[in-house]
Amino acid sequence: MPRSRFVIAHRGASGYLPEHTSEAKALAHAMEADFLEQDVVLTQDDIPVVLHDIHLDTVTDVATRFPGRQRDDGRFYVLDFTLDELSRLQVTERIDLKTGRAVYPNRFPAWSGEFRISTLRDELALIAGLNRSTGRSAGIYPELKLPAWHRGEGRDLAAAVLRELSAAGYRDASANVFVQCFDAAELRRLREELGCTLPLVQLIGENRWADARDDFERMCAADGLAELARTVQGIGPGLNRVIAAGGAATELTSRAHDAGLVVHPFTVRADALPAGFDSLDDLHAALFEAAGVDGVFTDFPDRTRQWLLGHARG
Ligand code: CA
Repeated sequence: MPRSRFVIAHRGASGYLPEHTSEAKALAHAMEADFLEQDVVLTQDDIPVVLHDIHLDTVTDVATRFPGRQRDDGRFYVLDFTLDELSRLQVTERIDLKTGRAVYPNRFPAWSGEFRISTLRDELALIAGLNRSTGRSAGIYPELKLPAWHRGEGRDLAAAVLRELSAAGYRDASANVFVQCFDAAELRRLREELGCTLPLVQLIGENRWADARDDFERMCAADGLAELARTVQGIGPGLNRVIAAGGAATELTSRAHDAGLVVHPFTVRADALPAGFDSLDDLHAALFEAAGVDGVFTDFPDRTRQWLLGHARG
């Protein structure tokens, strides 16, 4: 069976519109992404919302709208605000807190436009509506963000997300969804305790990351991948794990395929190419042709789709 080559819209068409806004998702859908990504965290009233961080201050005006509501570390946490409060926040293109400037300066202007936080439920309704009105069927790709941190705060993120997915019709292995997480224990819990039969993807980060809970190096070895394959259907590694500097493939993709896992690396960015790459075309070729990955997370779903259309497999 030929493998898929999926366009996964990373936080929506985030190269063009503020990440995770409904506008960014609608644009990604129009750009013919196969999957639209949702990062998910919980509100104070236990409602799953679509935001990349447990903090609000890099993508909203929370600091000016709710002064004094930060924790001792100076950060404003989604979990400390009700959905009603969150709905009053303006969402902006991502800001670097150290400089106060946009992380990607050539993207949508910071603090421009009227963008709002979406609940997971609203976003799933948007995608279902677009699937119906366009006749396309884009899938969804929710990520459980820091489930162990949520549990430390007395919350069960995975259970709340699974309830929303089930209510929206994503219930079994045939559903057009991948549920992703960096936390291997949480993915096993989904499978073994929570009765989740949805396709699962283990994200693979770097051991040096402050919130790393797993040995990602071990995961990438053949026995580590075989162990993952007992729980998940695929892996989502960083680009550097599937292509070396210079563009040659590493062994990870073929090793994962041998274990029966699909490979969806993150993240393709036209305005932040990995070291050693001069063009997005070269990066796409390295990923899809040299490494042979099964999909990529991309901030520019139109550019990835365009490349795939021009490079059909013989
Ligand atoms: Ca993500």
